[in-house]
Amino acid sequence: MKISRVISHFFPNRCEVCNCEIELGAVLCGECEKLIRGPIMASFKLAHIDRAYSYWSYDTPLREMIHAYKFGDRPRMADLFSKMLLEMFLVFGEDVNTVVPVPTTVDAFRRRGFDTNHLILKKLSRDLDLKIEDVLVATGRRSPQSRLKLADRHGNVEGKFRVKRELSTGKIILFDDVVTTGATVGQCARVLREEGVKEITLFSIAKAKK
Ligand SMILES: [Zn+2]
Repeated sequence: MKISRVISHFFPNRCEVCNCEIELGAVLCGECEKLIRGPIMASFKLAHIDRAYSYWSYDTPLREMIHAYKFGDRPRMADLFSKMLLEMFLVFGEDVNTVVPVPTTVDAFRRRGFDTNHLILKKLSRDLDLKIEDVLVATGRRSPQSRLKLADRHGNVEGKFRVKRELSTGKIILFDDVVTTGATVGQCARVLREEGVKEITLFSIAKAKK
């Protein structure tokens, strides 16, 4: 018996959305995969940001996938998200190849062992000529936005980011996996502008309806 079959016998791999048993290495079952009839890649408006695009809405099954990735210790799911981001770069990336990820706090990094946004970009950089600029630092304890009630979200990010060094370009793509109210990315964009960044395009994987 192959070792992978032994593993799947004792620890069956399950779909992140409907929990049915699936092949080892897969993330979603075929039925749930079909639910993402994307990409939508819709544009939306945000303060301090020139253009903002999201791959899909923050709905089933993408919501469950992102939760599994961020809170369920599933770093390999970064591959899936990097493929979504690749599609966005091919359509809206134009000539911009400098990406600034919204950073994970030190607390969250310790908990997960990886920086969620940075890992997605690192996977993407195998397919695209990207310059990942980790210039933003999260200085406060940033509670996970998606777990907070809408009313709590704005106060959650006040004064929580700073830029640690100068950027080599005035044109960047800001990246965050999930955009809820836009308060987090808006704050990041504001501090980047203070450092002389002229043009900011935002890419996100999922955008929550307000
Ligand atoms: Zn499923």
